[in-house]
Amino acid sequence: MAGMATRTSSSVVPSAENGVNSWGLGDGQAVPWEYAPAPEARDIVTLKERYGLFINGREVPATGGETFTSVDPATEQPLATVAKATSADIDKAVRAARKAQRRSWGQLAGKERAKYLFRIARILQERSREFAVLESMDSGKPIKESRDVDVPLAASHFWYYAGWADKLDYAFPGRVAKPLGVAAQIIPWNFPLLMLSWKIAPALAAGNTVVLKPASTTPLSALLFADVCLQADLPPGTVNIVPGPGTIGMDLVTHPGVDKVAFTGSTEIGRKIYQGVAGTDKGLTLELGGKAANIVFDDAPLDQAVEGIVNGIYFNQGEVCCAGSRLLVQESIAPALIDKLKDRLATIRVGDPLDKNTDVGAINSKQQLEKITELVQSGVDEGAELYQPACDLPERGYFFRPTLFTNVAQSHRIAREEIFGPVLSVLTFRTPDEAIEKANNTPYGLSAGVWTDKGSRILDMVSKLKAGVVWANTFNRFDPTSPFGGYKESGFGREGGMHGLHAYVRLEDR
Ligand code: NDP
Repeated sequence: MAGMATRTSSSVVPSAENGVNSWGLGDGQAVPWEYAPAPEARDIVTLKERYGLFINGREVPATGGETFTSVDPATEQPLATVAKATSADIDKAVRAARKAQRRSWGQLAGKERAKYLFRIARILQERSREFAVLESMDSGKPIKESRDVDVPLAASHFWYYAGWADKLDYAFPGRVAKPLGVAAQIIPWNFPLLMLSWKIAPALAAGNTVVLKPASTTPLSALLFADVCLQADLPPGTVNIVPGPGTIGMDLVTHPGVDKVAFTGSTEIGRKIYQGVAGTDKGLTLELGGKAANIVFDDAPLDQAVEGIVNGIYFNQGEVCCAGSRLLVQESIAPALIDKLKDRLATIRVGDPLDKNTDVGAINSKQQLEKITELVQSGVDEGAELYQPACDLPERGYFFRPTLFTNVAQSHRIAREEIFGPVLSVLTFRTPDEAIEKANNTPYGLSAGVWTDKGSRILDMVSKLKAGVVWANTFNRFDPTSPFGGYKESGFGREGGMHGLHAYVRLEDR
């Protein structure tokens, strides 16, 4: 695609009989080795010019008629106009959800709820390419990630929780699991459809109804999901989707008709939401920021570790709450590992999110790009050593080079603050105790990674790391059966698995 980055490397052609090979090059001459553009077709997605709110099973305009625009971060072009919900709309959505909880969805037997959830899972799979393309257009993430990670995982959350809907007695033996009622759910922009599925699937499985507010920069996959709800014939009011600014997010959180609040996003907003529910009996789960340590010991398989490090921080442009943004390397292998990492960085392709070759797509918004740029500058100013591979960035759009900082001190902002971008800070350690001390030296506690050949060391580290999820010899692996969540300023409560179901039920004695 014109204007998008292509990376050039070369390989030496084997000798040919007459000195000229099939590329028409002489002995020993390098083949110019470029990736041909492989853009995914956009026409699977039919973008509407205007999207309404989804309340009580119908698409409706916002009260007052205000709208906002969702922009493609890779081109800076507007994608669609979206209705901007007001407090009055939040009230309508909560009332619709309450009615459905009392009269339709909440009255269904578990096996009937399961049928709907299975249907939604199947429709997501059938429409997976449409969802993947739309998600990449609206968020900037590479199509190979939305196609191979976000959408399949979103569908699998519905499959998984569909299985629990009629088995709540087995999930909570000896207790009676009752739905909480109406769930208010607020999701971020880094995994829009996936976060929607993490929130909606367990809530519906347990018999709750929901009002979901997507992030303002990525409302479109949630609005396409509204279409899936219609296609699945979900009772009106079971799922309501209300795009709009953060202020209406707070209206939703504080609405007296809400029984449970689930939030994923920044620690700063998480704190406000905590205050918003204080003094009420609303259930609350907060999945907030992170500054994960990815720890590599000297006995680790280095090439595998390099792949894990790259996946840990450059996956989804580093816009991942559990990203392995602090690399802790044992001192003796640090030079070798950093060399390998730099070589690997030179092969990462940054560019058009819809190109199937792209590894790192566009940063989600101009505001986020500015935040990343400012924090990277602080790293330079504070004395860390910056490395960025030479690569062309597209002329338009919000792109940022994969970045590696060495010579990082624990006091540097790039070692303490969540950057939420493709920026890795490398620190070193000598002993396992020092690794633990450095890894836990953060207000966050969401995830961590350990790379070592020794199982006993993995078990020892896992027991000492203050993180909700610890990956061993891998990173950024997600599964609907496995709980996910944090400690400290990364929030509380778990999503996924039976723990995720627990957050949406009230357990009573038999
Ligand atoms: P926010 O936490 O502001 O956004 C997350 C969601 O909360 C969005 O739907 C947002 O709506 C909504 N929201 C915003 N303000 C309020 C409020 N007062 N009450 C209720 N809901 C609200 O994240 P940002 O998009 O501003 O990103 C800022 C930083 O947060 C990032 O740089 C990153 O470091 C971190 N972040 C962490 C995430 C994680 O998963 N841990 C996810 C996203 C960001 P709206 O979009 O309309 O503002």
